Amino acid sequence: MICSNCNKNIVKPLELYNGDWACPSCKAVVSIKSIAVKVNKENDETFKLSELCYLRALKSQKDAALYERELGMAIEYCRTAARMGNPKALIRLGFYYEHGYISADITESFRIAYEYYKLVWSTMPEMEERPADRDYAESCIKLRSAAAKHYLELLKKLPESFRHVGELNYHDEREKIIALGLTIPDDDGAERVVGESRALHVLSVLQTCFNKERAPLFGIMRLGRGEYVELSAIRANGKHSDSKLLTFARKMLIVLFDADNGEFRTIKTEEDVNAIEPDSAYYLYFFNGGGSHGISESKCRRIAKTLRQNSGLGEYTGIKRIIDAMSGAAVQTDFVFSEDDVLMYKSRLESFAHATEDLINKVAKQ
Ligand SMILES: [Zn+2]
Repeated sequence: MICSNCNKNIVKPLELYNGDWACPSCKAVVSIKSIAVKVNKENDETFKLSELCYLRALKSQKDAALYERELGMAIEYCRTAARMGNPKALIRLGFYYEHGYISADITESFRIAYEYYKLVWSTMPEMEERPADRDYAESCIKLRSAAAKHYLELLKKLPESFRHVGELNYHDEREKIIALGLTIPDDDGAERVVGESRALHVLSVLQTCFNKERAPLFGIMRLGRGEYVELSAIRANGKHSDSKLLTFARKMLIVLFDADNGEFRTIKTEEDVNAIEPDSAYYLYFFNGGGSHGISESKCRRIAKTLRQNSGLGEYTGIKRIIDAMSGAAVQTDFVFSEDDVLMYKSRLESFAHATEDLINKVAKQ
């Protein structure tokens, strides 16, 4: 992938919280839509490696460590092949997002999967080294149809916050796909599926902090009225054990912000988990300092410190600004950030603290 801004070859782009890619040299954003869909020997072989790892992961589900390792490799190879434009890899990457193999907020996961599937069904792939089979056109139709099938299934699971977006109408999109001559299964008339519970979703995001690949660095998630109560009641094992939230809070910083009065409390004990106003909505902030990241521990600490003490303006000023932006936003979203989101604003002259502030400014302005 060549950066259209600085012309450098991008080996590994920064991967941002909203699914965008950015050039690590000049920080220009590379839109998913700008990927040229094509099949060549290199991207085809990379995708095959990825699938091999994925199969090995599926076979080793009983061995958690092995499963994580194979799955991590499958995702990395798949990303590489997708960046090179391989259509099958683009579909598979969409699938990884759709099914939560890659940690991201549920609305972001939806949007990313949507863009990957759409890119493949809406474009005619180019075959750099055309395979021997004469059924080239037919195999393209098959590939694009597969993407369209995933796409329509995804639209059936439209998150609440996207319901009003006209562009995402299942029936209209179906018509467009049929008009392109792609073959898709008959409409089964199945009801739209409602998303999973917020409490379980928040726990699954916290769980991804232990991933070996691309573990989140920090994030902020909203829990509506009653949703925090549900979360606080989930036990780690059995009725009388610790709350699941506390088991996470022992391994990383978790701070709860009351959405009504702005007060916050760091979760350290079971009492902290339970000392709540049942009618309040909350924002849960986590910082995964001990996770596996691509930057050093001291840099993580610098970022954490900035998030905690923003230019001496008071505790969690930056986090509170993001929370204000979240509560005023039309589309409800959570934010899950990795080190790449900070690196996006890091230059030689700019410190990690500054880059973190830039990120906060960007997100708070949305
Ligand atoms: Zn560039």
